[in-house]
Amino acid sequence: MPKKNDSNGWKKTSIAIFGLTSCEGCQFAILDLHEKFFELTKYIDIDEFRLIEDEKERSHYDISFVEGNPVTMENLHILKRIRKISDIVVVLGGCADIGGVWEIKNYHDYKKIGCYVYDKCKTIENREVVEVPKAIKVDYIIPGCPINAQNFLDLVFSLLNGTPWTLFDNPVCYECQINKNPCLLQQGKICLGPIALGGCNAVCLNSRQECWACRGILSQPAEKIVNLIKILKSHGWNKADILEKMEFFGARDRIEAALKEAEKKK
Ligand code: SF4
Ligand code: SF4
Ligand code: SF4
Repeated sequence: MPKKNDSNGWKKTSIAIFGLTSCEGCQFAILDLHEKFFELTKYIDIDEFRLIEDEKERSHYDISFVEGNPVTMENLHILKRIRKISDIVVVLGGCADIGGVWEIKNYHDYKKIGCYVYDKCKTIENREVVEVPKAIKVDYIIPGCPINAQNFLDLVFSLLNGTPWTLFDNPVCYECQINKNPCLLQQGKICLGPIALGGCNAVCLNSRQECWACRGILSQPAEKIVNLIKILKSHGWNKADILEKMEFFGARDRIEAALKEAEKKK
């Protein structure tokens, strides 16, 4: 994104970081950049970021990052307003991108479940979870739960320099094997690494925790998904066990859509 020229020379790009309903982990991932984050502020103005300030919302931002999911109508109105007042909108993290943990409820009878949780469930707003790219037009997506903050930095600098930005486009298995981790799938565990979008340095596998595709899935031939399901079934897992892991971060709908698409092509 070219910087704007004003009477004093170059004007810094105006950035906003908004949080809808979320755990704020992706915003904290940005702050965890420490000195790199402060270095960035030499080139941009952070005009909205409630973790570090409480300024009044402005009428325009060059780039807005949106973390969290619009789980309430109020969130949805805010999201639509963000789109109106921003030149570029970037999805920040799995809650916004693929529904994240919020989306688990879409796969169940969420109206009924709400009544187990809340005493006066009829008065609690309990809507179907909508992914941000389905609610508004978005320009870029930074995946992950939480995001890889380096992706955030790279995207900001690409936009400032007007250069293309691309995401790592290999499965989690790629980095897992570079890191010489033992394969948990071969040990019979439910690991979605072969179909999951990598770029996280296989951080879960490095701690011997299976991958449940928090960055979403690769755009890939559905045969890979079919093969993975076959392998898991050969280890004795049933469909419900496998679906449970797929829905944990909201990837299940995309996996099922890819399978349906493949079915149609037969
Ligand atoms: S994507 Fe994960 S880390 Fe980021 S806000 Fe949502 S739950 Fe938190
Ligand atoms: S443990 Fe998971 S991510 Fe690693 S190689 Fe095996 S299937 Fe792939
Ligand atoms: S290993 Fe899988 S679940 Fe863990 S951070 Fe990477 S993509 Fe997400």
